[in-house]
Amino acid sequence: MTVRVVFATGNQHKLGEVQRILTAAGADIELLSLRLWPDAPSPVEDGESFAENALIKARAISAHTGLPTMADDSGICVDALNGMPGIFSARWSGEHGRDAENLLLLLGQMSEVPDHRRGARFVCAAALVTSAGVERVVEGMIEGVLTRTAEGTGGFGYDPVFRPHGYTVTTADLSPEEKDAISHRGAAFRALAPVVAELLG
Ligand code: IMP
Repeated sequence: MTVRVVFATGNQHKLGEVQRILTAAGADIELLSLRLWPDAPSPVEDGESFAENALIKARAISAHTGLPTMADDSGICVDALNGMPGIFSARWSGEHGRDAENLLLLLGQMSEVPDHRRGARFVCAAALVTSAGVERVVEGMIEGVLTRTAEGTGGFGYDPVFRPHGYTVTTADLSPEEKDAISHRGAAFRALAPVVAELLG
């Protein structure tokens, strides 16, 4: 039986990506778009971790819709910057969602850092909140290095400056399916799928 779960994002691209990951993993889960609830709240994401922010979003939307809800929060954590930008990845240069500015600022901050200290990882927390208020959160990550210049033509956000370990290209040069198979979001939602089946199936 198909399990229907609201996905707490206004970003249709992200919804499509997560649906693709769940379907490829064999999970019988249909994500419902927030577009079905035009009056849904946009809670302040003031948590101190990816997990807290994912739960804040899932809780608020589950309370509004009365339905089980999934949400995620993600970002890039750079070793030489003590894990920053981290939860501030989307607004690193000030305003939310300015991908090009965020990426250039990060490259500038890292310009003097030698190759052997350029370790970084993408992290994603994926949360589920049921209508009964049961909460679960899991994390996925992908390890790699920060390049010195933007490379590649696809992807979004910090993809052009992140090269996964074992690869010669950045995640901006992987196909969506190649990236899903190794990505932080892929790992997190593949881990959440059996939890959905256990609690809601
Ligand atoms: P979120 O949508 O609130 O989770 O914010 C995630 C932010 O982290 C995005 O704006 C990107 O800057 C960055 N980010 C997260 N995942 C990725 C990825 O897979 N590629 C590139 N950037 C990412």
